[in-house]
Amino acid sequence: MAIKAQKGTKDIFPDQIHKWHYVEKSFADICDRYGFKEARTPVFEATELFQRGVGDTTDIVQKEMYTFEDYGGRSITLKPEGTSPTARAFLEHNHYADAQPSKYYYNIPCFRYEKPQSGRLREFHQFGIETFGTDDMIADAEIIALGYDFLNEMGVGQIELRINSVGCPKCRPNHRDALRNFLEPRYDELCDTCKARYETNPMRILDCKSEICQDIVKDAPMMIDYLCDECTDAFVQLEKNLEAFKIEYKVDPTIVRGLDYYTKTAFEFVTTMIGAQGTVCGGGRYDYLMDEIGDRHVPGVGFGLGKERLIMLMEANEVEFPEPKPTEVFIAFVGEEAKFYSLNLLRKLRCAGFLAETDALARNIKGQFKYANRLNAKYTVVIGDSEIESGILTVKDMASSEQIRVKSEELIDLLKK
Ligand code: ATP
Ligand code: MG
Repeated sequence: MAIKAQKGTKDIFPDQIHKWHYVEKSFADICDRYGFKEARTPVFEATELFQRGVGDTTDIVQKEMYTFEDYGGRSITLKPEGTSPTARAFLEHNHYADAQPSKYYYNIPCFRYEKPQSGRLREFHQFGIETFGTDDMIADAEIIALGYDFLNEMGVGQIELRINSVGCPKCRPNHRDALRNFLEPRYDELCDTCKARYETNPMRILDCKSEICQDIVKDAPMMIDYLCDECTDAFVQLEKNLEAFKIEYKVDPTIVRGLDYYTKTAFEFVTTMIGAQGTVCGGGRYDYLMDEIGDRHVPGVGFGLGKERLIMLMEANEVEFPEPKPTEVFIAFVGEEAKFYSLNLLRKLRCAGFLAETDALARNIKGQFKYANRLNAKYTVVIGDSEIESGILTVKDMASSEQIRVKSEELIDLLKK
């Protein structure tokens, strides 16, 4: 066929979907236990939301967004991340007037025009959580603990939690100056993106994936050494809270979220098990995001967790995913009247909660049995003229070949046992 899926997108079929269902159900379950409630926001938003919310100097806004003009002349963007839309919705619906904090989770597709690689797609999927309305480090530690416990529950060992502080608008300028001074002699060696970052937002250079830039910043001044008293206190509190939660972590001064709206806590869960794209979950605090998008000061903290990378990591850890439910009862039929009888029975079984199937190709009986075997059916029932006349059905256990005769109206009770 000439028309193919777009580069960087993936189709998911039933042979894989049970993995997705498993992580989705598990994520909803842990969010429940931690008191986070689901929020759903639209797939597209005004472009301006991301320009302000993610930030003009980020890779996302500069070169990764799927932006287009709609027929009404509005600039629309498919959401590249979930925090700004959730914050936008929170402000729009005045939820800051509720008892705070507000704790949300989401499960969304994200769109970024990137160079597709293993673990890096143009349409990918994220779980995320956000706590709005508190600047206490309890919230940050709770967000991190949820990520930690979720990854553990998903059976992925060998993942490291790294934390850092990116300071605040008060202390960051000192670091910015020191960083520029440090980088200046080697400015010419920086990659083109980082040359631009040098002017707009030099802290992001610490996060560059190019080897040269990584080498240049090896001994660069780090934000964590420039924190003001308030940010230092917050970081100490974060560490104490994590220790109380018994969460293991490592301080990594290179982790950045380089915008003025991002403050204090930054963290990542990182692994080397799935190749180069090793950050499975990343997050942090953004105390000035809502000032930026909605002129209201509401602090917040959250994370985004890539579902594709999570599933890859689970596969690398040889996690056993729960298998999808097999066909419980297969009804085979011989003849036209038996077909209608079977359809009637099929619906009764399905309404009673069984995964029941028949052959919608109406093959001959041999073909139907072959199909029942392919479906791995646990029990089969054959309907023919004599079953219709007598109302007595024969249920065959496909594994043991044992056969039980039962009155038609007692079939459901028998199967329930
Ligand atoms: P990276 O440094 O790998 O580009 P990021 O900092 O852009 O990640 P975030 O914006 O923090 O990522 O998104 C949170 C999570 O979403 C990431 O940790 C990752 O698991 C996942 N993710 C981000 N971009 C992609 C992508 N293009 N394809 C698949 N997963 C992604
Ligand atoms: Mg990225």
